[in-house]
Amino acid sequence: MSKVTYFSGESFPLEMHKVRIIQKLTLLPIEERLRAVEEAGYNTFLLQNKDVFLDMLTDSGVNAMSDRQQAAMLTADDAYAGSETFTRLHAKLSEVFGMKYFLPTHQGRAAEHILARGFVKPGQIVATNYHFTTTKAHITAQGGEVVELIEPSGLSVTSDEPFKGNVDIDALTNLINERGAENIAFFRVETGTNLVGGQPHSLSNLRAVSHICRRHGIPLVMDASLLADNLYFIKTREPECADWSVADIWLAISQLCDIIYFSARKLGFGRGGGIVTDDLKIYESLRAWVPMFEGFLTYGGMSVREMEAITIGLDETLDEDMINQGPLFIAHFVDEMERRGIPVVTPAGGLGAHVDAMRFLDHVDQRQYPSGALAAAVYLASGVRGMERGTLSEQREPDGTEPLAHMELLRLALPRRVFTLSQVQYATDRIHWVYANRRIVGGLEWVEEPEILRFFYGRLRAVGDWQHALVAKFREDFGSSL
Ligand SMILES: *Cc1c(COP(=O)(O)O)cnc(C)c1O
Repeated sequence: MSKVTYFSGESFPLEMHKVRIIQKLTLLPIEERLRAVEEAGYNTFLLQNKDVFLDMLTDSGVNAMSDRQQAAMLTADDAYAGSETFTRLHAKLSEVFGMKYFLPTHQGRAAEHILARGFVKPGQIVATNYHFTTTKAHITAQGGEVVELIEPSGLSVTSDEPFKGNVDIDALTNLINERGAENIAFFRVETGTNLVGGQPHSLSNLRAVSHICRRHGIPLVMDASLLADNLYFIKTREPECADWSVADIWLAISQLCDIIYFSARKLGFGRGGGIVTDDLKIYESLRAWVPMFEGFLTYGGMSVREMEAITIGLDETLDEDMINQGPLFIAHFVDEMERRGIPVVTPAGGLGAHVDAMRFLDHVDQRQYPSGALAAAVYLASGVRGMERGTLSEQREPDGTEPLAHMELLRLALPRRVFTLSQVQYATDRIHWVYANRRIVGGLEWVEEPEILRFFYGRLRAVGDWQHALVAKFREDFGSSL
């Protein structure tokens, strides 16, 4: 992707790839979308793909593969143990991360499972810039406590701060002084901070975190699932790195960490995951969990085809024309929404565009899940499937109280290389329409609330009858069901 200036003076992202395989989409009439969302318990995770027009739920495992990735998949070497495919993936990981050892897992959360088992003892703390849903579930399942130390700007929805994922260094020092380094199982830095809008951290902030962790003997673990976007933001927003190659920034980051894990459903345009480290002791201490929970050490639950795809995908991540595709598309989406007055998270981050449901539906009580309601309303109005990232995505405390999320966001993920600008334009237009009619939209309430990771499969219903009013207004305004 590059950003070109048109003769008119306007500037737009331009794809540096062409589409050679397509998948047909259907846009259902709004009455059918109403049926689908009711069947899904107002939870966009429970929608059937056949009922979805543009799937902006996630970037996980749904990024478009390249011709090179598909070609490599045909050369995969199938073997339970010692496959050439694994050797190639391992070599590529060593090259990009500069770390010798690799433990494969079937996806990112499986790496979290192993790290939590290996490091977290009951009562211990895992400090982090910001938690992620599956990470927190694994840490608390081991009896650990997650403490968030993101800089205050990370939690303000609109800001000019380029690195809203940065760690608050004073807060880290205070935590160590108050609770003791020996009670901190590890520090987890999440690159491209998912739950606060795909916001990056800077290289210099990571340096400061690493320095403190090393001084106190606290292992520094990076969740590198969203590293590609963060690399791009470091290159474009951190003056020190403007002339560095992506590969150099990547290595500089790795050198500051003791352990790095990732979801290859995001990093590497494939499906899988793993843990890398340069420390033999750490590798040996975690190794036994892989054959026990994932699969043998040379596949860890991944198919050989996916491993080939990831190897090439990592290579493509070093290509600036490739990694800027996500951020430039997202920035365009965010700008277009902002121009229409729709409240969004700024600056634009990675992963997707994030709509601020707290401002969008400021008449809906946070206990009635405004971002869940907005996700359902946007699906109704457009067939676009986004994801709730707010209070629904939180977990109740052991005593049953419900923590309210810092932010109520509707995330519209842009899987890489999948959508066109006209599709982004359509989504913007329909969200604009919902915004113009936002007073019609009400809240949600539980029908079935699971105890763990409730947002994945819990079922809700509309409070009142706002969904029918929204459908009626749609028909009136557009004169059709589409
Ligand atoms: C997606 C994600 C994970 C979990 O990875 P899966 O492959 O979906 O299990 C962990 N951390 C972050 C930051 C993620 O975005």
